[in-house]
Amino acid sequence: MKAAIFSSEYATTGRFLVIKEVPRPQIGAGHVLLRVLACGVCRTDLHIVEGDLPPVQAQLIPGHQIVGEVVDGATAELPQGTRVGISWMGGVDGDCWYCHHGMENLCDSPTFTGYTVNGGYAEYAVVRKDFAFALPAGLDDVHVAPLLCAGIIGFRSLRVAGIQPGERVGLFGFGSSASLAILILQSWKCKVYVVTRGKSHRNTAVSLGATWVGKEDDKPPVELDRALTFAPSGKVVVSALASLRKGGVVAINAIHLDQMPAFDYDKLLWGERQIRSVANMTRQDARDFLKIAQALHIRPQVTVFSLEDANKALLAVKQETGLGSAVIVP
Ligand SMILES: [Zn+2]
Ligand SMILES: [Zn+2]
Repeated sequence: MKAAIFSSEYATTGRFLVIKEVPRPQIGAGHVLLRVLACGVCRTDLHIVEGDLPPVQAQLIPGHQIVGEVVDGATAELPQGTRVGISWMGGVDGDCWYCHHGMENLCDSPTFTGYTVNGGYAEYAVVRKDFAFALPAGLDDVHVAPLLCAGIIGFRSLRVAGIQPGERVGLFGFGSSASLAILILQSWKCKVYVVTRGKSHRNTAVSLGATWVGKEDDKPPVELDRALTFAPSGKVVVSALASLRKGGVVAINAIHLDQMPAFDYDKLLWGERQIRSVANMTRQDARDFLKIAQALHIRPQVTVFSLEDANKALLAVKQETGLGSAVIVP
């Protein structure tokens, strides 16, 4: 099969992926083989190929927003040809303290799709069948792909921030995940304040009905109840914190931050303000979000790339150029 391969030695050279023929993977117990129909590109993929996340495999196929159809290993629950979605959580041990306490997103021995195991920048992928989600019929392959990480983990961020209907919510950074989260916030009658660097992202925020949209260093005109940050920047977390009312919460939707700058505790954190990170997702988050996405008819804007152009897709995410979410179709 054709696949886009990342080698750990590329991380320091600025080279991302090489497209080549590799053997089609074989299924093991508890797994199914998918023919990949589409695979969304996530900022985490960029962190992997740029070495911000330490390499765990010498050779890796990235990609963790996989839409595929079951072609081998079918079961009664997943018949041949079933269309499923795969996300960042590729599996958990089911046996650690976190798994036993309803926090499988924090499992001690997880597998991550397209990071600790091969992902979906390829014509085929092997995945754990208990981490494959049936997909809503209303959405085609390329439009459902960005929901699988950007959508699900964005939704988890709303939960972690504890957002209540009608609240004032800041979105700091406005890529794939934030542009899906705003749709849910609107259904909850929240007022949404967007702070983001890229002009195209600001335009998108306006077109999606944000209450207020500002540039990188602008401060929302009101104190916020909650804020979500999506940029891989500690400075942005501090800006979000500075925008909160007393008792407000910042939830950080980023697997990697450049650094966390020093900030004034007395002014910014005192008053029971909170900073929380958002780590991974549970299968329940995925099921709940996919249900909401279907009910709200969420249809993300996408830019489609061929598998040969996987490097261009990653660059579009890095440079914030492409419209909406980048999706690879092998
Ligand atoms: Zn576990
Ligand atoms: Zn992701």
